[in-house]
Formats: sequence, C-alpha cells, structure tokens
Amino acid sequence: MPDAPTPTFRFAPTPNGPLHLGHARSAILNFEAARAAGGRFLIRIEDIDATRCRPEFEAAIFEDLSWLGLDWERPVRRQSGHMADYAAALDRLEGKGLVYPSFESRAEIRRAVEARPDWPRDPDGAPLFPFARTSMVDAERERRRLAGEPYALRLDMRAALARAGQKLFWHEEGEGMIPADPAAWGDVVIARKEVPTSYHLAVVVDDALQGITHVIRGVDLKPSTSVHRLLQHLLGLPAPIYRHHGLVLDAEGRKLSKSLGSPSLVALRAQGMTPAEARRLALDGA
Ligand code: GLU
Repeated sequence: MPDAPTPTFRFAPTPNGPLHLGHARSAILNFEAARAAGGRFLIRIEDIDATRCRPEFEAAIFEDLSWLGLDWERPVRRQSGHMADYAAALDRLEGKGLVYPSFESRAEIRRAVEARPDWPRDPDGAPLFPFARTSMVDAERERRRLAGEPYALRLDMRAALARAGQKLFWHEEGEGMIPADPAAWGDVVIARKEVPTSYHLAVVVDDALQGITHVIRGVDLKPSTSVHRLLQHLLGLPAPIYRHHGLVLDAEGRKLSKSLGSPSLVALRAQGMTPAEARRLALDGA
C-alpha cells in the first residue's frame, strides 16, 4: 500500500487589499487543522491579476499572519511566477476541444441580457454567458484571435460535461459527498488573452502541484468548487477534501469587505487589539 499523503493545508490570499477578520478565520482554521493533523501549512499568494495585486499588500499579509502567531513553510508559492504551469493545463483543455475564445465585452453581455430579466445568473450573480459557442464559426474566432483582438477563453460547458461523462461529487467535511453543479456557471472564463489562467484554473493546478489534501475556505467560495471538481476531473488531478466555513459578519450581519469599510487587521492592531483578541473575534461562531 502506498503511504497516505501528508495532510497539507493552505491559506491562499489575493494581495489586492489588507486582510480583515474573515481572512484571519480562514488562515487560523487551516493552520490549526494542519497542526492537529501533524501536517503542513502553506501560504499561496494568488496574484494573477497584476492590475489589482500589489507587493505592499503581500508584505502586509505576512506581517498580519505573523502577528496572529501563525507560521508557514517557505518558500511561498506566488502564482505570478508559475504562468507556464497554467498554460500547460490550458493547452490540455484546448487539446480536448473544450475551450474557445470569446470576444464580447462585459457591456455587450450586459446589453444582451438586459431585455431578458429571467436570464439565468451564476452563483456570484453574473449573467451566464449568453452567446453560444456556435454563434461564430471556429475559423472566424481564430481569425479574430490572431488579429490580436482582446478575448476571454471560455470552457465549453456542454462539451466539458459530455467529456466528463459522469456526475461529479466532492467531499465536504461534515456533510459527505456533495454533487457538483458546474453547469450553474455556464461557459465560465478560464483564461484571458494576456493571462493563461483564471482563478478557477490556477487554484486546481496549484492545489495539485502543492499536494494540497485539505482546502478550508469561506462558504462564499463553495459554489466555485463545482467548477474546480470538473477541471480536476478533466485534467486528471486529485481532489482535496473541502470544508467551507461560515463568514465573519459585521454588526449589521453583512459579510466583511473592503468596499463596506470593514476594519483591516492592521487597523485593529493600531487600535491596540492584541493577537489573542483578534484570534478570538476571528473564530467567534466559526
Ligand atoms: N484567493 C482566493 C481569495 O482570496 C481564495 C482562493 C481559495 O481559497 O480557493 O478569495
């Protein structure tokens, strides 16, 4: 019998702003679970969006996590340094004929669904892509791509589900096997002209390359797991065990967010909060 893999957990922040107590909850739960399992705790910096990610936010993330008393393995994987890994995975999906370039802007998509109030939306609330792959012949797509037009690469969901050929499930800790519903996302974007990946593709490639056995993250990402399961299956990658935790809410019951002005860990620290208090608040009700 092969040895069981070392339990390996990760916290995967995007350095596009300061961390708040919600991030602290994810980080601490992963760190504690790794410790309890005698396993590894990794940090992965998810910085594929070069326009929004900043080195100063990344530096602040490490400072905040150290202040909370966490420790992690070095070196830390930074997604921006691994585009070739994502491009290789994308190539494999393209090789199976499951990916196509789309040229419609967000505004065009919005306009196309405006007159159809019952047009389905994805779990994040965005309208499903309303233009079928067959709305343009492949030769025309290729011509526009080669002409240098901006495009998004989309997963042909119908073809991908047909290729998968079976109902997919993921293991949710405490709940058992959950049926994946990738169709709820329609023809999801998995790469763009300038970047050979999206969050969905990079996360499954990295979780596999880093040997992640357990993913603990906020429940707001639970619906994305359906896409992740499908990509894992299509790429022949192992599936971690998932646990989606409840979000830290503010006094009005809203999820913490930068746009609502939720206090960052830096701000709480500046107000004199101790790490022990921050940990207690972050885990309160988790
Ligand atoms: N980078 C994602 C975020 O900051 C988390 C990704 C994940 O845990 O799968 O929301």
